[in-house]
Amino acid sequence: MFEILFLGTSASAPSAKRGLSALIVKHDEYRFLVDCGEGTQRQILQSGAGFKHLTRVLLTHGHLDHILGLGGLLSTFLRWEAIDELEVFGGRSTLDRVHDLLYGVVLRGNLPPMPLHLREIKAGVFVDAADFTVSAFPVTHRGPDCLGYVFEGKARRPFLPGRADELGVPFGPERRDLVAGKAVDLPGGKRVKPDDVLGPLQKGLKLVVVGDAGKTEDLLEVCREADALVIESTYLNEEAEMAGQFSHLTAQQAAELAVKANVKKLILTHISRRYREKDVLKEAQAVHPNASVARDFDIFQIKKEEQDGQE
Ligand SMILES: [Zn+2]
Ligand SMILES: [Zn+2]
Repeated sequence: MFEILFLGTSASAPSAKRGLSALIVKHDEYRFLVDCGEGTQRQILQSGAGFKHLTRVLLTHGHLDHILGLGGLLSTFLRWEAIDELEVFGGRSTLDRVHDLLYGVVLRGNLPPMPLHLREIKAGVFVDAADFTVSAFPVTHRGPDCLGYVFEGKARRPFLPGRADELGVPFGPERRDLVAGKAVDLPGGKRVKPDDVLGPLQKGLKLVVVGDAGKTEDLLEVCREADALVIESTYLNEEAEMAGQFSHLTAQQAAELAVKANVKKLILTHISRRYREKDVLKEAQAVHPNASVARDFDIFQIKKEEQDGQE
């Protein structure tokens, strides 16, 4: 399961109800902060999420409404909150600006309070964990090196407890071995192979997070068959021309992408103060019925619909 906690859902400037772009993607003990607009540290506190394990920051691009919060976060880490290390991932020009902010403004010759790594990434997998990966892909927006992120569970064969029961496989290490792909010999001499108790290969969950984007044609393939897509929706269709001019999307464009790519759940963020939330939602749902507009502190759980029988 992937869990998304929205910390800030406003476009360009905060509003009374919405902070600037930031969200946390959580999977088991892993937590990724995607973007870090001004005020993110307070949103983290208010949400109750805390700073623990929040050691990886993925940046979509270098616009100030997505990165300024890193200055405040680091400033706090200098004084109070202790984390083991901080890794900031992003494209080259994004990291150049983050470097100026962190080293030029916040640290000014002082050492960071923890190992601080600015890790330049390009398209491709950059986190390869036991049961999921995180990869980056290019996004078209104003300026170079804009990235989106795919969180994807690895394909696996589900354990079928009913089959194991029939074959008399006891609970315990035998079942673990079978899941791990090893054959086991039962006390009576019967040999059970993984194929006997594992179902067909199932694709893992796929969550796609796109920051600001000026067009959707180049996002179609990467979004295909995603279980959920988080994407900006700065404008409504009535101002599509302005959206194009500033390299942003309308709610309708985002929803059309989700339909074309066969995305199950669409979650819109980066909402402008110029619109009412219900109008954004209405425009998106007219195209993709399973669309939501995220609010600050909303939590979405992305999981497979049918529970596969895991031990
Ligand atoms: Zn933005
Ligand atoms: Zn931007």
